[in-house]
Amino acid sequence: MRIEILNTGTELLLGTTLNTHGKWFGEELFKLGFRIQRLTTVPDGDAITQALRECVSRADAVIVTGGLGPTSDDLTRECAAEVLGTELIEDEAAMRSLEEFFAVRNKVMAEVNRKQAQVLVGADVLPNANGTAPGIYVPPRLNGAANCAVFLLPGPPRELYPMFRQEVAPRLVALAGWSQPPSMLELKIAGVGESDLQQEIDAKLAEIPGLEVGYCARIGEVDLRLIGDEGAVAAGRQIAHERFAKQIFSEDCSHLETVVVRLLTEKGLKLATAESCTGGLISNRITDVPGSSAVFTHGFITYANEAKRDLLGLPQALLDEYGAVSEPVACAMAEGALRVSGADIAVAVTGIAGPDGGTPDKPVGTVWIAWAAKGHRTVAVKQVHPRNRKDFKLATSQSALDGIRK
Ligand code: ATP
Ligand code: MG
Repeated sequence: MRIEILNTGTELLLGTTLNTHGKWFGEELFKLGFRIQRLTTVPDGDAITQALRECVSRADAVIVTGGLGPTSDDLTRECAAEVLGTELIEDEAAMRSLEEFFAVRNKVMAEVNRKQAQVLVGADVLPNANGTAPGIYVPPRLNGAANCAVFLLPGPPRELYPMFRQEVAPRLVALAGWSQPPSMLELKIAGVGESDLQQEIDAKLAEIPGLEVGYCARIGEVDLRLIGDEGAVAAGRQIAHERFAKQIFSEDCSHLETVVVRLLTEKGLKLATAESCTGGLISNRITDVPGSSAVFTHGFITYANEAKRDLLGLPQALLDEYGAVSEPVACAMAEGALRVSGADIAVAVTGIAGPDGGTPDKPVGTVWIAWAAKGHRTVAVKQVHPRNRKDFKLATSQSALDGIRK
């Protein structure tokens, strides 16, 4: 079934309101086994007529959001009546619930609100438990020429979401005559670039009949999306695991910090951090996870050399000899954090976020990351993330967390 979404509202195009409906509808419809064919956003007013005309000519069902309010810029009803070639009439039941809405709130209904009880002739009125504007459903038979179902729904999410679930979803399933949600699996992968990942497995995945594959590159992580029937998704998962078992860190949309906290909890290990260039981002991410208090003991933010010296016990001579951004300093920070905190594992980062401070042998973006663990040799890696400060910090925290996991 071809489904299109038409979001209306000048504020969505001025940038004052973020259009979140696309994401929400995408997820909700996917759960029902449908996909959005096209998503259109238009300003209030006449543009709606033109856009709706195009949508109904292409789609089997169109969901229009917004513009059902009482004000002069709320014109969705009128535009739909024009496109579908029908009239608007006042619906008695809708009028009664409108009056009730105001009565229970001890308010007098403004005359302009009467227009919200207007519906297209022959349409179903979709009750709105959370606002004044009822939704409207025009079945395809009333729109014979285009043979397209049209839903007019309120814009505010708290009115729209329940109305979609209660009134729209069952009608869409009935229209389609079936509902067969496909399986979707999202593998989150760290430590491999998008291109390398694709090069290694794309050809093999393409051989699986009915499997749809998608890649989404994020900072320090790639998400591999597999969609299809259960068998196809399982086959795709196996191919990814054959090659990248170690790099796959989640299959349930969990973030890296959640996976790390879960692992440490399972193993009964305590973690401490010593952060310079990330300014606490790693400990922030760890403590975002519920239950992190069971595994996280200390987060040292040792930004200045004096802090590295005073809090972690680094010798001044070490800092002088190698500089703060160096392997020996990263290792000494991790070992210092381990010693002072009494934790089982410590991770330390020290780098140059930029934009200033780079040198030819240590360019902006250089970072040393070290992991120390009781009874193990401390290990460190050098990475270069020539990005803006925020992305540099995020990329560094990804690597630091991923190293704890490994
Ligand atoms: P109202 O009676 O509130 O006017 P309405 O059905 O006319 O209802 P809109 O005027 O389009 O709805 O939107 C009202 C509010 O709902 C917007 O100011 C915005 O806060 C929210 N909203 C509308 N559309 C979207 C969207 N696509 N994404 C996120 N929020 C939205
Ligand atoms: Mg409005």
